[in-house]
Amino acid sequence: MDFALTDEHRMVQNLVREFAQNEVATVIKDFDRAQEMAPFILPRMAELGILGICFPVKNGGQGMDYISLGLACEELEAVDSTLRVVMSVHVGLNSMGLLQWGTEDQIQRFLLPQARGEKIACFGLTEPGAGSDVAAMASTAKKNGDEYILNGEKMWISLATKADNALVVARTNPDVSDPHDGLSAFIVELDRPGVTCGDIHGKLGVRAGSTGFISFQDVRVPEVNRLGEEGEGFIIAMSCLDNGRYTVAAGATGLIRASLNASIKYAQEREAFGREIGKFQLVQQKIARMVQSYEAARLLYLRAGWMKNQGLRNTRETSLAKWYATDASFDAASEAIQVHGAYGYSDEYDVERYLRNAKGAIIYEGTSEIHQLIQAGYALNYRDDRPLRCELPAYDVEVWQI
Ligand SMILES: Cc1cc2nc3c(=O)[nH]c(=O)nc-3n(C[C@H](O)[C@H](O)[C@H](O)COP(=O)(O)OP(=O)(O)OC[C@H]3O[C@@H](n4cnc5c(N)ncnc54)[C@H](O)[C@@H]3O)c2cc1C
Repeated sequence: MDFALTDEHRMVQNLVREFAQNEVATVIKDFDRAQEMAPFILPRMAELGILGICFPVKNGGQGMDYISLGLACEELEAVDSTLRVVMSVHVGLNSMGLLQWGTEDQIQRFLLPQARGEKIACFGLTEPGAGSDVAAMASTAKKNGDEYILNGEKMWISLATKADNALVVARTNPDVSDPHDGLSAFIVELDRPGVTCGDIHGKLGVRAGSTGFISFQDVRVPEVNRLGEEGEGFIIAMSCLDNGRYTVAAGATGLIRASLNASIKYAQEREAFGREIGKFQLVQQKIARMVQSYEAARLLYLRAGWMKNQGLRNTRETSLAKWYATDASFDAASEAIQVHGAYGYSDEYDVERYLRNAKGAIIYEGTSEIHQLIQAGYALNYRDDRPLRCELPAYDVEVWQI
């Protein structure tokens, strides 16, 4: 077992860390307060190649592996969750889905400009009446010649008002006995007539990001924009979640690290009862637990990234990494506030933002309850992974970097 990062991995870490720490950390509090996404974020991430980090060069990407994607997410969320959310939806949920399931034409038309960051992508699964229970969705796509007519509303969609393209799942067949089998996936350009979108305000966290709704009213989507076969929508959505959840796991690991570092710094500055508070064992216990959860979360996501590199199915391992890291990041942020006392309770320090942001990741991309059901299902042999018609390609440096 080789736990060492390569020179390329370290280069990615440094590049992303410098961007996040030097360009974003200094302004993030203002944008979080204003509940707006900083306008420079997406263009700058595109310019640095972060938006196409793990795609083959020939597809517009940077030719790095899936571990690089995880390392980038860890660095981004160590500054703010909204940066990592961009990676989760643009890269994990949408573009990696295109790499896995797309035709050559779809890869050229959609993945290539997305990997270059010329087009921004989002993922539309959740609806006002259907979240965890995906198959309860009400959106429909009715076949009409060589087009589909799309109707419905997607809710809680990250980057809804920033994206050019959305991967949308809708019902194409209402007559199947199992409603999961009646769904199909589509790549929808959001400038098509009949598409409207807007932002949701008043969120607890990810306030410096964009979360919104997208409505489709008689939107005509050409058949060539259907991703995969008719009826594969649920399977495709779940495979996209295997990739999105990986980025969430890696990002939450970064949030634990940020909580730990903030706590160490404060514990060595603040004095009570004549000594720095880091000398108190109960404060040390909180810091030790953050160390423990950071190291465990990191190993879990690196294992999932390694499995992706090898082309191994990783639904189980990625779910565990996501569940563990997101719960642990919430606990770490909460304890970091405790270490900061009253100061942690105000936005003078970053830790209150960490807590608000951490809560979201326990809800999206599978709530922690859903991940517990997944893990128990595997352990009890109630659940098994059948081979997919299209698997995420294994990382192959010879192919990726030419
Ligand atoms: C900030 C943010 C960004 C998001 N971005 C996106 C996005 O880009 N694209 C997208 O498609 N969606 C997105 N979502 C939506 C997210 O994926 C859903 O909120 C999530 O899947 C949960 O669905 P729900 O909110 O409808 O909750 P529900 O499914 O209604 O669940 C409510 C509660 O019931 C519990 N529950 C439900 N079923 C079970 C069960 N079988 N057993 C035990 N408990 C259960 C849940 O765990 C939860 O605690 C985002 C959400 C947030 C908050």
